[in-house]
Amino acid sequence: MTLGTRSVAALALALATPAAAWAAGTGTGGTAYTPVPTITSVTCASLCSGKSRVEAGGTLRVAGKRLRQVKTVIFHGNQRTARDNVKVGVNPTGTRSFRVKVPFSANSGPISVWKSRSVGSDTSNPITVLPPPPPERSAELSPSTGPRDPGAPRLETGISSGKVFLAGTKVRFSYRVNDDEPVPVTVELVHVDDGVVVRRWQPGTVEPNTVHTIRWNGKPGPGLRANAGRYVFRVTAQSSDGAFARSSGTSDATRDAFDFYGHIFPIRGRHDYGGAGSRFGAGRAGHSHQGQDVFARCGTKMVAARAGRVQFNQYHSAAGYYVVIDGYKSSYDYVYMHLQERSPFRAGDRVRTGQLIGRVGDSGNAQGCHLHYEMWSAPGWYDGGNPLDPLRYLKTWDSWS
Ligand SMILES: [Zn+2]
Repeated sequence: MTLGTRSVAALALALATPAAAWAAGTGTGGTAYTPVPTITSVTCASLCSGKSRVEAGGTLRVAGKRLRQVKTVIFHGNQRTARDNVKVGVNPTGTRSFRVKVPFSANSGPISVWKSRSVGSDTSNPITVLPPPPPERSAELSPSTGPRDPGAPRLETGISSGKVFLAGTKVRFSYRVNDDEPVPVTVELVHVDDGVVVRRWQPGTVEPNTVHTIRWNGKPGPGLRANAGRYVFRVTAQSSDGAFARSSGTSDATRDAFDFYGHIFPIRGRHDYGGAGSRFGAGRAGHSHQGQDVFARCGTKMVAARAGRVQFNQYHSAAGYYVVIDGYKSSYDYVYMHLQERSPFRAGDRVRTGQLIGRVGDSGNAQGCHLHYEMWSAPGWYDGGNPLDPLRYLKTWDSWS
């Protein structure tokens, strides 16, 4: 059997082991062999708490062979699937080692390095990625720490929250430019991992010595996705003689920063996931359990795990008071049952992530106060979609909210 370039590449990818491929040469019409990179060790280089323990935002030193043309580092995370893989672009100058920044979204696990989609190394020793320091939350303005030319305006900034949810409560960024004349400013919201500006505000020339406020509702700008992760607000001001000041440095990931999430855990109080009978798929008379039960004291606040549009707010003898929400920028429907009383929202209403939609109860056929929570794939709840096991989602959201 003869393997063409394509199938060799495909095979190499499928195996994800040391792989070589013949890449098309430039100009000669022939092919060039791309030497396979290998990793001999990965060690922490900055923000370390051990040889193989690094804080997100810190750097790793990757040592090995044939590393010069490596373009991508993959952080594999701790799941067996590629679900939590995070890729970082690199451009090593040496062949024996290079440094790579650990993205805020990376999970603990091994890494691998790749020259192309098909030429990559084995996975390395596992690296523990420790949570980054929390954002420095300060609603009070304080003098900025960023770069400043001599004679540039002095900046002060503050932020209202260190945690923001997609289409949730607005985060407020405040700033003051201290100068003796109006100053042109630009405010940017930057995704720390890749430096992408997800929103830019250009208020023009602003009044000096006055507090100005930017509000962001957790929705990205046109054509941009807002990925989960660490974001920072950064304001730039320029005086009339051209001197610049910026509120924080490009590598500062804590000043005027927040962590951004697509979901919040829907129960805002102590809770537990019950026993085997609470699980998705557990046996019920004549059917199987289509959701996950989460127990909490009657009256505990229940919020929308994800923003969206209310599809149903009804009563059913088994489900009790229940609400179905069509998720914002999501293919899922989010279903909440056994509410203490009817939710105040009507079908068609929009809700924000984290908005109070009701309280935990035992209306309908329920033993003990709990949220019966369902998630349905598109096209939706009893509308051609299917229920899926929501437990791993709930546990993930629980971990940060
Ligand atoms: Zn249930």
